Amino acid sequence: MSRREVDLFVIGAGSGGVRAARIAAQHGARVMMAEEYRVGGTCVIRGCVPKKLFVYAGRFAHDLEDMAGFGWRVGEAEFDWLTLVANKDKEISRLEAIYRRNAENAGVEVVASRAVVAGPNTVRILSTGEEVDARYILLATGARPALGPAIPGCELAITSNEAFNLTHFPDRILVQGAGYIAVEFAGLFRALGSDVTLVYRADKVLRGFDGEIRDHLEAEMTRAGIHLTPGRTITAIEVINGGKRVTLSDGAVVEVDDVMLALGRIPNTAHLGLDTVGVKLDEVGAVVVDEIGCTNVPSIYAVGDVTNRINLTPVAIREGHAFADTVFGNRPWTVDHSLVATAVFSEPEIGTVGLSEEVARALGRPIDIYSTSFRPLKATLSGRETRTFMKLVVDKESDVVLGCHIMGDAASEMIQLAGVALGLKAKKADFDRTIAVHPTSAEELVTLRTPTRSV
Ligand SMILES: Cc1cc2nc3c(=O)[nH]c(=O)nc-3n(C[C@H](O)[C@H](O)[C@H](O)COP(=O)(O)OP(=O)(O)OC[C@H]3O[C@@H](n4cnc5c(N)ncnc54)[C@H](O)[C@@H]3O)c2cc1C
Repeated sequence: MSRREVDLFVIGAGSGGVRAARIAAQHGARVMMAEEYRVGGTCVIRGCVPKKLFVYAGRFAHDLEDMAGFGWRVGEAEFDWLTLVANKDKEISRLEAIYRRNAENAGVEVVASRAVVAGPNTVRILSTGEEVDARYILLATGARPALGPAIPGCELAITSNEAFNLTHFPDRILVQGAGYIAVEFAGLFRALGSDVTLVYRADKVLRGFDGEIRDHLEAEMTRAGIHLTPGRTITAIEVINGGKRVTLSDGAVVEVDDVMLALGRIPNTAHLGLDTVGVKLDEVGAVVVDEIGCTNVPSIYAVGDVTNRINLTPVAIREGHAFADTVFGNRPWTVDHSLVATAVFSEPEIGTVGLSEEVARALGRPIDIYSTSFRPLKATLSGRETRTFMKLVVDKESDVVLGCHIMGDAASEMIQLAGVALGLKAKKADFDRTIAVHPTSAEELVTLRTPTRSV
């Protein structure tokens, strides 16, 4: 049989790969795409989507508590973890089918197999051993959870991959990590009723986020009853009757049902054949690319988490789209990686775009900080002890808003539009000129009159 030839072979059918394959096919390219697990990738199968569904599940518990203050008398409510997991599975299977159908309808041949690079223009499909010639190869293999150092009993721990499919609800869980996935899982398990311990090496959660947001989130997590355990790591895990005994670096011992590691993610570049063609990787194993996603091998491109730039779904999708338009659509463009708005679905959630106060200060330019912390209207009747926090970082000379940071209900929805404003280089005067929408939390963003401090 003669070797098959395609214009594009995409390895990995996640956020970036599916978009690139579909758009390239729409531009007339012959496209094959291999997926070793499930079409849709991390975001759809075991990332953003199931996570947000679990976050919603936890919020109903809050709603049940909050209702009494508004006059509702609610009977005994019961939560069933296995129903949540089963319904989530149904939804992600539906989404997976849509992703596959959209790719196939565009003319992409989807192959259910692991695939590796066998040459600058050759991909090997491992399930059949077939080698396919490709004018271009796109690496869109994403990343996987880091497991940290090999401590005694580390095989007893789970990662986010397994947390989505636990066959029992963890009444007591220890999460190790301080990044967004760690705080999100700590928050959602706590809301669902787990006793949660969060262990992290750093002194504060969410490194890289605005310092006050980090402080406010820690205060809220403590108020919610999460046991914050900074400055420590896990040194051993062992099985005890029905659970796990976890030893920490200070000698403390915690007994839980499950231990979840959320220690960051590692780009999927191992055993991918990249050494055979000399694709350059950085020190963490991410593929090094230029602004259009091209590696040092001109026929091989990469997009998404495997390049470890901004590891978010919408960024991977944009990179895949830009690659396909540029290489196959005769419409070159690049992705602007500045001012990417993002959310953390902690309890309460966070929305952030632009510079933190710390980064703005480090630039050495004078800045004004406008901030406010208040009890949201809903909490007045519910009696819930929670505060909303908002902050604008403003360049003193130009009046341009450099950063916007929000923690509170709907922060993720608000930050999308703040992202539009900052992208237009909105000034503080533009925020001031905008008439408030009342009564909302968002109105505080346009009524911050006096700087909290100038630095
Ligand atoms: C728990 C969690 C929560 C998250 N929440 C959010 C969020 O709220 N918002 C957000 O924007 N982002 C979120 N992310 C990040 C987001 O999921 C990723 O940034 C995004 O999925 C990256 O897309 P990608 O195309 O680069 O890779 P992926 O979506 O990971 O896709 C890569 C695909 O390649 C496949 N693959 C790997 N190697 C091979 C091979 N050799 N052959 C064939 N197939 C292969 C994998 O099986 C996978 O399906 C979350 C991630 C996690 C883990």
